[in-house]
Order: sequence, then C-alpha cells, then structure tokens
Amino acid sequence: MKHVQDKVIVITGASSGIGEASARLLAEHGAKVVLGARRTDKLEQIAADIRHHGGQATYMAVDVADLDAVKKLMSFAQQTFGRVDVIFNNAGIMPLSPMSELKVEEWNRMIDINIRGVLNGIAAGLPIMQAQGKGHFINTASIGAHVVVPTAAVYCATKYAVWAISEGLRQESKDIRVTTLCPGVVETELGHDITDEATKGQLKEWRKASLTPDAIAQAVLYAVSQPDSVDVNELIVRPTVSAF
Ligand code: NAD
Repeated sequence: MKHVQDKVIVITGASSGIGEASARLLAEHGAKVVLGARRTDKLEQIAADIRHHGGQATYMAVDVADLDAVKKLMSFAQQTFGRVDVIFNNAGIMPLSPMSELKVEEWNRMIDINIRGVLNGIAAGLPIMQAQGKGHFINTASIGAHVVVPTAAVYCATKYAVWAISEGLRQESKDIRVTTLCPGVVETELGHDITDEATKGQLKEWRKASLTPDAIAQAVLYAVSQPDSVDVNELIVRPTVSAF
C-alpha cells in the first residue's frame, strides 16, 4: 500500500486486542511497527511473529502513564527506524463499576492511563512530528466518547476527554493529521480488570454482539493509507446489530 509502506508506526497497548491486530495488519502492508505495552513477553512473541512473516517490528516496555517512559519509546523508534510517522495512542483500561461503589483507585487509574497516556503520547511525539514537518496521531477513544451508560461514567469521561484533546489538536495542526478512533463493542481483554461482579455479567451481555479486533485494525489501516493532505478525522465502527 503506497502510503503505508515503510511508515514508522508506534503503537501503545500493542500486546493484545486492537493494538496487536493493528500492528499485525499494518506490518503486513509494509509498515515498520514499534510495539509498546507493559507485557514484554507478549510483545516479544508478536514482534517475532511479524518478522517471521516478513514484516518489520520491534518492541519496548512502556507504561503510558509515565511520560519519561513514553519519550524513551519514541526515541527508540527514531533510533531504530529513523523517524516516527504515526503514533497510535491506543493503550487503555476499563474497570467499570457503578459510581456508588466509590472505586476511586480505579477511577484514578483510568484517568492516568486513558487520558494522561494519550497526552503523554502527544507530548513525546509532537516535537518529533513538528521537526519532521508531518506526522499522524491516531487516538483511541470509544463509542463511550459519544454515549454514556450506567457503570461507565468515568470510563466514558476519559474517552470524552480523548475526543476533545484529539479535536483540539486537529484544529491546531496544519501539517499533522489527527484521527479519533471510536470502536463499539470489540471482543478483547478489555474489562478483564472489572472488580464489580454485577458489571462483569453486564459486559458479557454487551459482548454477545461484538466485533473482532481485526475490524478495527482495518479502520486504522484506512486512516493511515490516506495521502498526507487527507485527514480522516474520526472513525466510528460498531457491530451492525448494536444500538451503541
Ligand atoms: P486490550 O485490553 O486487549 O488492550 C489494551 C492494551 O493496553 C493492552 O495491550 C494492555 O496491556 C495495554 N495497557 C493497559 N495499560 C497500559 C499502560 N499503563 N501502559 C501501556 N500499555 C497499557 O483491549 P482493547 O479493546 O484492544 O483496547 C484498546 C483500546 O481500545 C483501549 O483504549 C480501549 O479503551 C479502546 N476501546 C475498546 C473497546 C472494546 O470494546 N474492546 C471499545 C472502545 C474502545
């Protein structure tokens, strides 16, 4: 693919789900992918598998809540492949619960990873893209950036924030593309950290109508594959049967 071939794409949250599927698909189309997440055993396996199939991939452990660690990931990408064309700020967590449970520690972790993680990716990547005179941020929000449902107040708040941050960055950028990615329900490891028993059951119900991560990876590929002058601003991708 003309506009994907040889692009250097940094992906956070690449050890599973949407990040992993996107890394595999983009590498299949000739991108050089730099995988970031906390589980290096998984990243090592995925990068090795991509290379085994003729792709180019490397990885580094990163906690997106730590700005220094995210800066190191970007420097590593530059040192390895010479530039950073796309930053896919995708890492996220979703420990849902009713607000009345007051799971304040989980609220704070969602704020740190889902919002601060995206901001850290921008803080680490924007100077590199400005120096290059071009670049592309893809930030994973959610359908939860458009609708709020019970148990998801704080999660949706973090995704509304990602939507607003991405839209603001887009408006300020003349040569850097910004795509906000809003998946509906996708079957992944997301939500495995839910501690509220009733909410675990609710997620199971929601997932009865869900997409595979590959459906979202195809949307990411579409955004990346556009020429520099075309910015796919937002992608909402939901299961056909799903109301939200
Ligand atoms: P997932 O749990 O399979 O993937 C999340 C990834 O983020 C994993 O690789 C995980 O290790 C990583 N991660 C978590 N905390 C991290 C941290 N502090 N530092 C670095 N990496 C960290 O789930 P997924 O569904 O693929 O989620 C990817 C993104 O998609 C998330 O932002 C999520 O909110 C969003 N999303 C998912 C759905 C869905 O239904 N699955 C819907 C809408 C949006």
